[in-house]
Amino acid sequence: MQVTHDDESTTTTPMIINGAPAEPRTGQSIPVFNPAHRLELVGSIPRGGGPDVDAAVGAARAALPGWRALPLEERIAVLSRCADRLHSITEPAAALLTREMGKVQSESDVDFQTAEFFLRLLPQEAREPLADQRIADEFGSVTIRRAPVGVVGIIIPWNWPMALLFMRVSAALAGGNTVVCLSSPLASLAVLEAVRAVNAELPPGVLNAVTGLGPEAGSALTAHPGVDKISFTGSTATGAQVLRSAASTIKRVSLELGGNDPAVVLDDAVVDDALGQALVGSAFTTTGQVCFAIKRVYVARALYDKVVDSCLAALDGARVGDGLSAEATMGPLVSGPQRERFDGFVTQAARRGATIITRGQWAPGVEPDDGYFRLPAIVTGVDNGFDLVTCEQFGPALPILAYDGQDEAVRWANGTEFGLGASVWTSDAERGRALASELEAGIVFLNRHHVSASHPRGMFGGVKRSGMGRELGRAGIENYLEAVQIDGVDPA
Ligand code: NAD
Repeated sequence: MQVTHDDESTTTTPMIINGAPAEPRTGQSIPVFNPAHRLELVGSIPRGGGPDVDAAVGAARAALPGWRALPLEERIAVLSRCADRLHSITEPAAALLTREMGKVQSESDVDFQTAEFFLRLLPQEAREPLADQRIADEFGSVTIRRAPVGVVGIIIPWNWPMALLFMRVSAALAGGNTVVCLSSPLASLAVLEAVRAVNAELPPGVLNAVTGLGPEAGSALTAHPGVDKISFTGSTATGAQVLRSAASTIKRVSLELGGNDPAVVLDDAVVDDALGQALVGSAFTTTGQVCFAIKRVYVARALYDKVVDSCLAALDGARVGDGLSAEATMGPLVSGPQRERFDGFVTQAARRGATIITRGQWAPGVEPDDGYFRLPAIVTGVDNGFDLVTCEQFGPALPILAYDGQDEAVRWANGTEFGLGASVWTSDAERGRALASELEAGIVFLNRHHVSASHPRGMFGGVKRSGMGRELGRAGIENYLEAVQIDGVDPA
């Protein structure tokens, strides 16, 4: 449960509404503690609620006519200057991100660099969809024109907040929309710094940031009649609530939700050090807390022992500690509740006879009880009835299962409610591509599967309960546009 307080001694980083710092109407703040040192207060964020969301939506509505009227090339130029602003704060703000949510500094750097890259690249993808499309044939002539949806509420989780936020902000603002964003209370300090920095280049009200608790600020945003679209990224359970809340005002909704990505290692895969490193590199990024990390591995039985050994060898070098320490390759889990939930999956697996093989060591100087740390583990002796396999475990334990026959692998891989990513590992590209079309996932990777592997001009999103709608590339821009048709006969 989130703690809230009115501690005068902590500086509260303000929200950004209408281009200016804003205090919450409640006068309350939420303390932010370092998950690597549980008692270290990193800062505090405003506990925003309905009235703050109201003010932010009002500012976004007022800014909409001017921003959408700006020619696209000018919006692209403004967003490129926003990227420069983001660049200028990356070093201190990335360290702040590590202190508030725990991931290693190199990942926080990549998070900021990716956000900057999206601000430069994605707006350019708007040129084609925003150009009128004319259809003239034997049935007559019409023009299809795409217009901004209006005010967009963007809600993001804590694991990769910068990349996830600016992937959406770049597309929404390039399309001529204005934005109110809400970040997770577990990772809002760096987001507020970033939104403040880029606001120096934006007209007031174009990009607003509110903070607070999901059931308060979040539900006020999703139900607000002045919001035209919600772009939500987070868990499947919250996504369902968001969909219900947005229904009464018929908002456009796109959802990027949880995942439980399978990796299928075919019997012709080359099992070497590189394979172990690739599987482990995916599964344990951000301490296993990535939506499209590998969360279960299915291996052709003949290769099973070799794959387990290559994963264990790849984990030998893991060093777990404070993400700011140069030696740490893996930080803590983000919070106490997150670690308890994860521990529950591992304990249940152990009780039911699984073997939990931990590897790696504590980074020099770490006090394991100071933070929400766990050493990474490979788990064997499980089946598809274990929660560790069927749920999104979101932590550093990777179950590896042996299958007999490709059909069984496909059935198991498709056997959860999720459908975000999946991967096939094979030395036969044709066979891999054929299998890809049998897997129920929004993205199927061949011989790779990593947070850095998404093509920015491709698309990203899930099937089944992993979401609806697509980000990145042209599809990502169209996610924030309404297509309208102009019909009729030109005057003589
Ligand atoms: P979460 O669902 O608890 O929270 C996500 C965001 O929603 C937070 O900002 C939170 O404040 C807000 N929120 C909470 N309750 C709300 C409500 N009732 N109404 C509106 N907003 C509300 O998820 P989390 O723990 O922050 O993130 C982890 C989850 O996010 C995992 O399931 C992970 O797979 C998923 N995720 C998905 C993607 C993707 O692209 N598919 C990317 C990253 C994370």
